[in-house]
Amino acid sequence: IEQTALQNDKLAMLGRMSAAIAHEIRNPLTSIRGFIQLLRPYLMQLGKEEYARIILAEIDRANDIIYEFLNSSKPSAPMKKSVSINRLINEVVLLSESEALMRNCHFQVETYDEDTEVMVSIDVKQIKQVILNILKNSLDAIDEVSDQRRGRIDIITRSDGQNAEITIRDNGKGMDRATLARLFDPFFTTKEAGTGLGLSVSYRIIRNHGGSIRVDSLEGSGTSFTIYLPLTE
Ligand code: ADP
Repeated sequence: IEQTALQNDKLAMLGRMSAAIAHEIRNPLTSIRGFIQLLRPYLMQLGKEEYARIILAEIDRANDIIYEFLNSSKPSAPMKKSVSINRLINEVVLLSESEALMRNCHFQVETYDEDTEVMVSIDVKQIKQVILNILKNSLDAIDEVSDQRRGRIDIITRSDGQNAEITIRDNGKGMDRATLARLFDPFFTTKEAGTGLGLSVSYRIIRNHGGSIRVDSLEGSGTSFTIYLPLTE
């Protein structure tokens, strides 16, 4: 899918809006925090100091959520390091394996050539996040299939001499045309508890790395995402 000016505008707007909202929410949280501290001795007299502790912990949690959200919706410039693509995939698979097992799903990793290390210059944290987002979507898509077929996710890495390619293919529910057309839009989601941020953020991270992403999907049978990343010079 080619990048469009429209997509960039939307993402830039999302970034600005979230920064502004986060700022506006943080200020009242800070003042609430201060006043709760002041009320603490009174709550203590009433034998309710526990309430203060809970309120403070919850305010801190809200701050954490805002912080996380800002981090994920505005990916910073990549801090690049040259790493082996296969090693990266193995690490990410390890991270997701227990989740996959719980959902009766199984990973199949296939590498183009075990002996030649395919090296890419990437921000490891950001690209791991992208692969985790895609794997999580695959697991969700498999969950939503009504028949009890065994979930299977193939992860295939190869290189064409210019780019490293990572394909993640699932046998989940697939997508219809309308979903395919919008899946990279910020806040587009078909899930009850979805944020619709995973793929828009992933898209931006990949573009920031000079790479691209391609999607093929067949409704009712599965989806495949391929990420292309330039090889280390
Ligand atoms: P979220 O997962 O919060 O919905 P995403 O941006 O990650 O947000 O995904 C957007 C939408 O794209 C999903 O709600 C889903 O409809 C669709 N989608 C993404 N990956 C897949 C997949 N592997 N199979 C089927 N649908 C998918």
